[in-house]
Amino acid sequence: MCHTLGTIQAKPINVLILSGHTDKYHYWQIKSEYFKAMLATESIFKTEELVLTDSNLYNLPTSLKLSDYKAVVINFNELPWTDFSKQTLEKYVKSGGGLVVIHEADNAFPDWPAYNEMIGLGGWGGRNEKSGPYYYWKDNQYVYDYTPGVGGKHGQRVPFVVHVRDTNHPITKGLPAKWLHQNDELYGNLRGPGKNMQVLATAFSTKETGGTGKEEPVLFTIKYGKGRIFQSVMGHTTATLSDSFEDVGFQVTFLRGTEWAATGKVKQKLPAEMPSEDQVVLRNLESLKK
Ligand code: ZN
Repeated sequence: MCHTLGTIQAKPINVLILSGHTDKYHYWQIKSEYFKAMLATESIFKTEELVLTDSNLYNLPTSLKLSDYKAVVINFNELPWTDFSKQTLEKYVKSGGGLVVIHEADNAFPDWPAYNEMIGLGGWGGRNEKSGPYYYWKDNQYVYDYTPGVGGKHGQRVPFVVHVRDTNHPITKGLPAKWLHQNDELYGNLRGPGKNMQVLATAFSTKETGGTGKEEPVLFTIKYGKGRIFQSVMGHTTATLSDSFEDVGFQVTFLRGTEWAATGKVKQKLPAEMPSEDQVVLRNLESLKK
């Protein structure tokens, strides 16, 4: 008989990255690299990736058992899915699965009502007042704004300060109250049902840089059935551009958001060095892999 002295091997949190296609402004391949490297820095995660290819871009493989995973990171947008694929993901989240939505994943599936409920807020893809209200922070409170108009806008890629609004949530507890995020598209004017949603952090989108002039939600959670969803609107990347993913603040909130979506708790410790309001801290792909 073999004993490991007093240690009980915790069951890993199985995470599935679902990738294979993004619109021409984004690049899922570099994101996959980063997602895998980030998750590998925390031994609690065991990560797999399913790359949808031409044969199943619209249709999840029937052999896929989502219930084997505690969380799914969606690294896919633009193309519509079949009813079978939609029902598979809906059922998974409704029955307690975790979903992680990063940046352009909230552009996906504008005509899929349950997806819009799961992500809370989204942009582009024809989203407008029919998708739900705008949602932002104004005069010290969150407002639902039913003004008609297009959903989704961002200005120039600039650094911006992330302001933690919920300091007690497992994902944001212990984080600096304000931290500088590396160059990124700050999504604004997002619209959606916004049901069962909790905003954890906002950022001010300045008109001078082409933004909305509003304090926009950047990190939020949604409850859907028994499932938990974490969305970060940060994380613009192309084949040659991954500034936003190098930011330790982004990385920490992605990792904590994934653990929370999977388990409802966060046990990870914060890295020794965190960004401050005027100083970013960066960790690129190579140093993540070390
Ligand atoms: Zn983008």
